[in-house]
Amino acid sequence: MTDAALRLRLDTAALVANWRALDALSGAAACGAAIKADGYGLGAAGVAERLAGAGCRDFFVASWGEAERLAGLGFDIAVLHGVRAEDMTAATSGIARPVLNTAAHVARWRESGGGRCDVMVDTGMNRLGVSIAEVASGLLDGLAIDTLMSHLACADEDSAMNARQAAALRGLGGRTAARRLSLANSAGIALGADYAFDLTRPGLALYGGVPRGELAGVVGQVVTPEAQILQRRTLQAGDSIGYNAQFTAAAPLEVAILNIGYADGYWRGFSNAGAAHVGAAALPVIGRVSMDLTAISVAAAPELGEGDWVALDYALPAAAAAAGMSQYELLTGLGRRFERRWG
Ligand SMILES: *Cc1c(COP(=O)(O)O)cnc(C)c1O
Repeated sequence: MTDAALRLRLDTAALVANWRALDALSGAAACGAAIKADGYGLGAAGVAERLAGAGCRDFFVASWGEAERLAGLGFDIAVLHGVRAEDMTAATSGIARPVLNTAAHVARWRESGGGRCDVMVDTGMNRLGVSIAEVASGLLDGLAIDTLMSHLACADEDSAMNARQAAALRGLGGRTAARRLSLANSAGIALGADYAFDLTRPGLALYGGVPRGELAGVVGQVVTPEAQILQRRTLQAGDSIGYNAQFTAAAPLEVAILNIGYADGYWRGFSNAGAAHVGAAALPVIGRVSMDLTAISVAAAPELGEGDWVALDYALPAAAAAAGMSQYELLTGLGRRFERRWG
């Protein structure tokens, strides 16, 4: 992909430092990594390789297709979506273990011979997972469970639901043959020791996301999109720019047109709200972000010309606020025109 139009700068040192910080906050619990959705857009193999090098042993993907793309690389992978009927060939091939979510998953897994698996139990989110009553009635008896896990619905808030979910999972301790219990995602790690159990499963914060204030200053930026200037021009007072003329120059203004747009995951929410930087010079987005193009003011760096590269502001909490989107969406939307460059 040497001809990729855009660059995604990925900071290995920051990724590893984030994992180490989350591992430390996890106390005696092991710290894994959610690498679903292609490593939240960074590239799952590149992420897993770096985190495995740092000591991470537990990786989580969503689907068997995601597991297949990592097969043979030596990672210990669990597949969160469990085993649909059409997954059984992949699921019994040994490339990963399933996270069983329903009684049908459990039956299907037993029928195929069983083997090591994880199980998701629902403690109140009402998304995926077997119920506590099903566990109590013996649904999981005899299963070779590695990790019995649940997922927090409101970990990024100070909600009474957090403690209720932790207590519900704790109540299942010893009820199954599970080697480990696991509850916390990134935000859950910040809730403290009561949430760590035996294994934590951060995703967002590994990649520079800050889901709770406690993690600000702990988590560093990993991802920086870079775009190239296709054209320079000067707006005269009264000139507008872009679709629907959403910006009008009040005075003569030096502008640059970048080769990035919402098709790349540089969402329309950045219209008149995002910015790029070259060195200390801030270059605000002006007008509406198009599919493949974005205009910035280069008043602060008028020496920039066609072919020069600029880095888009992508500190996730601030960028998400600017775009009016979640930090998760900003990562997972990053498109295919980026060359992912680990530094
Ligand atoms: C995505 C996911 C995680 C990671 O969540 P973050 O909020 O990104 O840290 C952990 N556990 C499960 C079950 C998930 O689906």
